[in-house]
Amino acid sequence: MTELPARRLLLVHAHPDDESINNGATMAKYAADGAHVTLVTCTLGEEGEVIPDELAHLAPDRENLLGPHRIGELAAAMKELGVTDHRFLGGPGRYHDSGMMGVEQNERPGAFWSADLDEAAAHLVAVIREIRPQVLVTYDPDGGYGHPDHIQAHRVALRAADLAAEPAFRRDLGEPHTIAKIYWNRVPRTVVEERFRRLDPAPFGAVAAVGDVPGVVDDERITAEIDGRPYLGRKAAAMRAHATQVEVAEGDAVFALSNGLAQPLFDIEYYELVRGEPGSAHEKDLFEGAGSPAAEGAHA
Ligand SMILES: [Zn+2]
Repeated sequence: MTELPARRLLLVHAHPDDESINNGATMAKYAADGAHVTLVTCTLGEEGEVIPDELAHLAPDRENLLGPHRIGELAAAMKELGVTDHRFLGGPGRYHDSGMMGVEQNERPGAFWSADLDEAAAHLVAVIREIRPQVLVTYDPDGGYGHPDHIQAHRVALRAADLAAEPAFRRDLGEPHTIAKIYWNRVPRTVVEERFRRLDPAPFGAVAAVGDVPGVVDDERITAEIDGRPYLGRKAAAMRAHATQVEVAEGDAVFALSNGLAQPLFDIEYYELVRGEPGSAHEKDLFEGAGSPAAEGAHA
C-alpha cells in the first residue's frame, strides 16, 4: 500500500495528444507541485492522420501501426510533463479510435463510439475508486468539437463519476468515492479571438479559424484559469512528443495539426466548473474549495 499525495487530479481524454494540447501546462504544474496526476486515455488514436512523411508508413491504410507508435509518443509526452500515472481505459487497445463522425470506423467492433457506456465506465470507476481524485477534468457534452471519441470520453467520464459514488455499484471495484469537482475544458472567446488577431502563422501556410479550436465559449462561462506560463516549455515539448499528430513552431506560441493550419498554443488553460462548489469567483487553482484533502488519505 502506497500513500498517495493529498491532492489528486484525474484527466480523461480520447486520444494521445489531447491531454498535452488541452491541459499540458495544468498537468505539468500540478505534477511539479506534488499533486498526484492521473491521465486516462480512452483509445490509442489509431485513425489519426500522420504528419511527417517519414512516418506515413504507420497509417491505418498502410502498416496500421499508428496505435502502438502513439503509446510511445504518449509516454514521451508524460515524461516531459512529469506525469507518471497514465493509463488506457480498459488497457491499451481495449477501445479503438472511432475516426471522424460518420465514417464506417464508428461502428467497427471495438470502436470506442459503439462501446457499451456502463461497461466502459466501469473501467474508469476502478481508477476513480483507487485514486480517489478530488478533481476530474474532461470535455463538454459535444466533446469540444464533435469528434465521436471526445463525445464518448465525456459520457464515460461523467457516467463513471456517478457510478463511482454509488454505494450499490460493483463493490469489487473498490469503496465508493465522490469526486468533489468536475471541470470541462474551455477557451474564452475573446482570448482566442485576440490570439488569432496577432498570430504569425509561420512556418505554417495558413491560419485556422476560431471555430477550429475546441471548447470555445463566451468568457462568462469560464470559472477557473491555470497560469501555466512557467510550464510553457514543458507543454510545448509534450506536444512535440506527439510528432505524428502535432507540429509546434519555434517559440512555442503556435502549432498545427495534420491540416497544417496555424493555431495559438495556450500557456494559460481555462476551465468551466460543472459540478461541485467553486472555491472563489475566479479560481486560480482547481483544488480550491475541494475540502481539506490532507485529512482524507488515499491508498493505492
Ligand atoms: Zn482527440
